[in-house]
Amino acid sequence: MNRILIIEDELSIAELEKDYLELSGFEVEIETSGANGLEKALNEEFDFYILDLMLPEVDGFEICRKIREVKDVPILMISAKKEDIDKIHGLGLGADDYITKPFSPGEMVARVKAHLARYERLIGSSINTNNIVEIRGLKIDKTARRVEVNGEEKFLTAKEFDLLTFLAENPNKVFSKEELFRRIWDMDSIGDIATVTVHIKKIREKIEYSSSKPQYIETIWGMGYRFKV
Ligand code: CA
Repeated sequence: MNRILIIEDELSIAELEKDYLELSGFEVEIETSGANGLEKALNEEFDFYILDLMLPEVDGFEICRKIREVKDVPILMISAKKEDIDKIHGLGLGADDYITKPFSPGEMVARVKAHLARYERLIGSSINTNNIVEIRGLKIDKTARRVEVNGEEKFLTAKEFDLLTFLAENPNKVFSKEELFRRIWDMDSIGDIATVTVHIKKIREKIEYSSSKPQYIETIWGMGYRFKV
């Protein structure tokens, strides 16, 4: 569940925001002082920050700046004055969005969801470049050459690993046994397409809950195999 921190000194507004966000399934915490809010923001993990600009002790500008020094999760700024928007831009604080009071809570929730979705896509694509493929409980770490299913490590041989990784990285495409053999084994290796069948069987025994009802690698009769997404 996504955790959101609201830093807002007007408790009625903070609670309205909290109610709406909780209805959308978020876990929400409120801090009404800038100093406490900043401390919590920096010391705990949150997926999203909603910052009021005018706060006692430490204002929203300062909190935004400090969060950005160490975290890149989305920040929505809430301001009571339209003029503040220019200031948010001018200071280049790194806020993702802003909204002025009075605002519609429904619109606020929509913006929170949109920014979270965008951020999660960003994180997802950076995980791919970090050489981890993750699909429905199956995790392939290409750097460490390790495979886990629902957190439990599975031990694959080198070719089983290469074959599984190739299929998982090209999901939803059907590959014939000939094609897989050509791609995973050296052209001059000894063997034939039966080698592919044997390896698929071994992989299934290791990663599938039920080999007869595979949830990852499907057999497409008469054609080959496909990694299900
Ligand atoms: Ca305020």
